[in-house]
Amino acid sequence: MFTLFPSGGVPRRFTNMWASSSVKVVVLFVAPALVVLMAYLAAPWVADLPPELAGLQKLGPVAVLAFAAAIAIAFNRGRVLLAVLALSIAYTGLHLAWNEDTAGHLSLTVFAAITILLPLNLGALALLKERGLSSRWGARRLGAIVVQATAVLALATGRPTALTQAAWGAPAGLAWLAASPIPPIGVLALALGFVGAVVATCLRRSAIEAGLAGAIVAVALAVHDVTVPLAFEVFVAFGAMMLAVGVLQDTYRLAFRDELTGLPSRRALNERLLALGDRYTIAMVDVDHFKQFNDRWGHDVGDQVLKMVAAHLERVAAGGRGYRYGGEEFTLVFSGRSVRDVLPHVEAVREAIEHYALAIRAPDRPKQGDGARRGRSARSERQSVSVTVSIGVAEPSGRNDSPEAVLRAADAALYRAKNKGRNQISR
Ligand code: GH3
Ligand code: MG
Ligand code: MG
Repeated sequence: MFTLFPSGGVPRRFTNMWASSSVKVVVLFVAPALVVLMAYLAAPWVADLPPELAGLQKLGPVAVLAFAAAIAIAFNRGRVLLAVLALSIAYTGLHLAWNEDTAGHLSLTVFAAITILLPLNLGALALLKERGLSSRWGARRLGAIVVQATAVLALATGRPTALTQAAWGAPAGLAWLAASPIPPIGVLALALGFVGAVVATCLRRSAIEAGLAGAIVAVALAVHDVTVPLAFEVFVAFGAMMLAVGVLQDTYRLAFRDELTGLPSRRALNERLLALGDRYTIAMVDVDHFKQFNDRWGHDVGDQVLKMVAAHLERVAAGGRGYRYGGEEFTLVFSGRSVRDVLPHVEAVREAIEHYALAIRAPDRPKQGDGARRGRSARSERQSVSVTVSIGVAEPSGRNDSPEAVLRAADAALYRAKNKGRNQISR
């Protein structure tokens, strides 16, 4: 089949990108929304704690911040650690300022800085790449936060200036934006930070970014309710909680999702097998001559093909669920269906893959030394590649009554499909 394609070097860029559709963005916001709701319900209740539990009011937020920091360190999430640090600085800063003067220049300036800088930093962290706790990037980002904190300290402990007054006052034309007690620039910053975090969530489909978006909402509620006793403490604590939940959710996804294709992984398949009832069908899918394909088109195009195959498997009808078994092998599980029920749908997927032409861009830079330089256009050329898959299906029978045995039977059927000439289904 490779003779169908024009000869050329290794394609470098591809036009057909498959977005991983398996993580629904909306789902990512469920946990942060629930935590915000919990915070909202908890806020009035915390202020009414009996005196014996008053310690909880002071220690609670500190404990949650420490917990979130520990989670960030344990899972090597540098951005989350910095976000927790920013929350901690804001929390400590406002308390120290309140102890000095509750409604004076110092407190107003620190408060305004929190409404403006905290959401912008959280939004920026959501948009930045995760680089772990690595010292080089971590130091740079940490430095940016320390510089801001130092500047705020200098402004807040100095005399009122045009800058501080503009920060907590209402510059002409912006007064309508003020959501008392949040200054107008703070409202803008909260909106901007939130939009940044939501955009990052949609782009990366990661729970950490969603957690940062949720933390910004918590910060908005914290500064909005700053005059309500203990509301600031509660919302900051729940903001940190959201970050920790985001890290844990993201880690779960890493364990059970295949990174390349976005399909559930082998580990998820093993759990699913344990939960199957009496009637089900398992199909093993294997890309034909994939080693040759990789040798011919390069590993990157191979990866694009695996994403394409995964996207087709994901769309199989009859309630089938696709898993990446490993390498170029996939598994389809149909719960409550017999082989007869699912065969037409599996066949439809096989045909769809066979007829799918994956557009790739031919190399725009010829390899040196092979004489290809002359005659080949410098512009990149469009071409397309396609692959076929072989499939083996099996269902429980007298001999094969465990899911593991059925999976082995599907694998044996796959082997028969290969031997019969590939690009077909065997049972
Ligand atoms: P057959 O039709 O008999 O299945 O032949 P095959 O070449 O597909 O089978 P084989 O098992 O010998 O080769 C599988 C190849 O799949 C080997 C490896 O290069 C490729 N492969 C496995 N995982 C990946 C991956 O994640 N990305 C890419 N690009 N290639 C992969
Ligand atoms: Mg194989
Ligand atoms: Mg193969």
